[in-house]
Amino acid sequence: MLLAGRYGEWEYYNSDHAFLAGRKTAEAARDFLEALAAQAKSA
Ligand SMILES: Cc1cc2nc3c(=O)[nH]c(=O)nc-3n(C[C@H](O)[C@H](O)[C@H](O)COP(=O)(O)OP(=O)(O)OC[C@H]3O[C@@H](n4cnc5c(N)ncnc54)[C@H](O)[C@@H]3O)c2cc1C
Repeated sequence: MLLAGRYGEWEYYNSDHAFLAGRKTAEAARDFLEALAAQAKSA
């Protein structure tokens, strides 16, 4: 589970930071899925 946003990070910030936090988490999810796919390919 990847946590993001003001509740997920338990941080006070404005919406510009919330957008960036969402993008960063989406990129982390993509990287994780790509690594998983590469691992499955090599197995
Ligand atoms: C009064 C006020 C004024 C603000 N004014 C500004 C401003 O002028 N400019 C600015 O840049 N920022 C402003 N902000 C900050 C901005 O609203 C936040 O930074 C931004 O909305 C954070 O986005 P978020 O997705 O992290 O959280 P949120 O927008 O709070 O989204 C969290 C979502 O999760 C949902 N949720 C909570 N618990 C659960 C659960 N258990 N299960 C499912 N869903 C759940 C909530 O219903 C909500 O929809 C203001 C904030 C407040 C409170």
